[in-house]
Amino acid sequence: MAKDTNDILAQDAHLIQSFADLNALKQQGARTVISRAKGAYVYDSEGNELIDGIGGLWCVNIGHGNEEMVSAISNQLQTLDFYSTFYNFTHPAAAALAEKIAQLAPGHLNAVYFGNSGSVANDSAIRMLHHYNIRKGKPNKKLVLSRHGAYHGSTHLAMAMTTPGYSEGWHAASELVHHLRSPHHWREGGEMTEVEFLDALIDDLKQSIERIGAENICAFIAEPIQGAGGVVTAPAGYHKRAWEICQANDIKYVADEVVTAFGRLGHFFASEDVFGMVPDIITTAKGLTSGYQPLSATIVSDDIHEVISGPDGMFLHGMTYSGHPAAAAAGLTNIDIMEREGIPERVQTTGKQFENNLRGLMDIELVGEVRGSHFMMGIEFVKDRATKASHPAEAQVGLKVARACQKRGLIARPLGNVLILSPTLIMDAPMIDQIESTLRDAITEVAAGL
Ligand code: PLP
Repeated sequence: MAKDTNDILAQDAHLIQSFADLNALKQQGARTVISRAKGAYVYDSEGNELIDGIGGLWCVNIGHGNEEMVSAISNQLQTLDFYSTFYNFTHPAAAALAEKIAQLAPGHLNAVYFGNSGSVANDSAIRMLHHYNIRKGKPNKKLVLSRHGAYHGSTHLAMAMTTPGYSEGWHAASELVHHLRSPHHWREGGEMTEVEFLDALIDDLKQSIERIGAENICAFIAEPIQGAGGVVTAPAGYHKRAWEICQANDIKYVADEVVTAFGRLGHFFASEDVFGMVPDIITTAKGLTSGYQPLSATIVSDDIHEVISGPDGMFLHGMTYSGHPAAAAAGLTNIDIMEREGIPERVQTTGKQFENNLRGLMDIELVGEVRGSHFMMGIEFVKDRATKASHPAEAQVGLKVARACQKRGLIARPLGNVLILSPTLIMDAPMIDQIESTLRDAITEVAAGL
């Protein structure tokens, strides 16, 4: 029997939400109950239809309620509900998906470790590199270079690699991580041109390696575009130059493609196709199953695989649900749908249109910067465009715009003074236009009330 909103919220008092002001959520009307979903839309418990402008959580790439996905998962459960990939066991769905991912991933990335979340994929990458270096006789080579503005997850190590601001009021395993400068030119570049700023970022990387010692650093980890840090694109050429420096210093480059893979930027993986380099490890999750099942992959190079699978050693790492049959079946079907329907290729056109439409919002005074690429976009609001001064946090500009959007039938994600848009990849031209006009009306309304 369908419950009404108040009944659900009464039960929900027992649920701890993620990344929320838990106290504010106790107030009447603070929470939204999403009851069902289809295609590019979700429906709340009051029956309102909303465009899912954040694709679940940057993950529902093929759209909601895909019946082929639901059948594939259900069929898999009927054949083999669960078996692990521990010890000497494997199963057909995990094996087939590992092979498929190896085929899609660039270059020498041919071995796949499955986990259940992006956080676990990133923790696994670093644990595997520690193991790799110990096996190579370099036990001190264990520190990680990350960047201000990064988001790599919420497990202890992944959070330590995330920008320090996220750990406020918590402890982080910060002794393992050094944070490099944020690559955000518009906010951090001062008077520098983009090219000068790129040189400054590369100098920061070089000097940090010199100071810490390459013999102590196992990895440089970077999102191709920083997502939860506010959708920040680095200056053109940054990733390739950083990768070259890592190569020269025997530091493994870990590309966190939890968001950017599986079509969001118009390709299965962005590292090579968009940024022109093949990392040593790619981590991914989210769009791998379009969110239908929790699954992540840590995809490692032949070199790493060879060392960790060499004689006289045990791979002492594993999660019970690594490569769960239902999740692996979801991954296989998701990729099949994406290939058959040419979703990444379509995004090269529709995503670009989305990006261009959103960039058009720069004509509203409150908008300081529109950034990102294709279906991964952020809009930053400012009090003063010339100085880039922000409204104070109490003004809750992002939250107000998100609420104004939701009132008009669009879910967008507020993050301080930034609004994030990462819709499903099945958006067509009319939907894209609708998102733009909704944003325009919502931002204009909020600007008038500030
Ligand atoms: N890495 C990136 C770039 C992410 O955006 C996220 C989540 O948003 C994660 C890692 C963590 O993934 P999960 O929430 O599945 O643990």
